Amino acid sequence: MKSIKRSLYVIIPILLLFLLQSQLYRLHYFFREDSEISRVIYKTDSLNERLITRVDTNGQKLVALTFDDGPDPLYTPAILEILKNYQLQATFFVVGENAQAYPELLIRMIEAGHEVENHTYTHPDLSRASHLKIEAEIERNDQVIYKITGTKAQFFRPPKKLFRRETIAIAEAKGYKTVLWSICVENSRAATPLKMAKRVIKSAKPGMIILAHDGRLNRNKTVAALPLIIKEYQKLGYRFVTLEELLNHKAE
Ligand SMILES: [Zn+2]
Repeated sequence: MKSIKRSLYVIIPILLLFLLQSQLYRLHYFFREDSEISRVIYKTDSLNERLITRVDTNGQKLVALTFDDGPDPLYTPAILEILKNYQLQATFFVVGENAQAYPELLIRMIEAGHEVENHTYTHPDLSRASHLKIEAEIERNDQVIYKITGTKAQFFRPPKKLFRRETIAIAEAKGYKTVLWSICVENSRAATPLKMAKRVIKSAKPGMIILAHDGRLNRNKTVAALPLIIKEYQKLGYRFVTLEELLNHKAE
């Protein structure tokens, strides 16, 4: 009896620690949307090289502006208008069910020279989903995008940066490269459009992948911050390109 009790003193703290560790990345993510936590989790294996967070352009001042979670009937048209005004092409990681609801917005993206990429069908947590569920989420959105635009998506971004090793392997098996980002426009430490813009401008580097959102939550601040960011980057000599073009400039 005594020995059982004693072993419980050992087992319970270990279990608690294990539980805490498995939840830690979620907590971190909750507080800092562009947290680097998944890179910390996967630092010990070779997966890092298969996750694109920035592209080495050999100093060429090219950056990619990417949008997640749309299309949205309010924010996506506003953003498309901004991109048109500043004459630049961006990359939209769309959610399949939103794309199905607003197919005309995907057509507008393609017609304006933007790229449409895969952010799953329903935006679930892919770190906990089954193999079949992950496959279905990627595949279903792949088909939605193809049906609307006639083009095959080539980049995949896991929702909320939640994924595991297998998620990347499944995406690769479907012909996708997994793309994360270097900096996120929306950030808990930047409460106003001006602060959001300043933070992103301060971090300017060649080959950066900038993440912004055009759906899911209120994105008024993002819409207000974008022209400030674009103007300043262009003043600094940066050119905004799609992800495909950015990767075409990758140094050998
Ligand atoms: Zn998302």
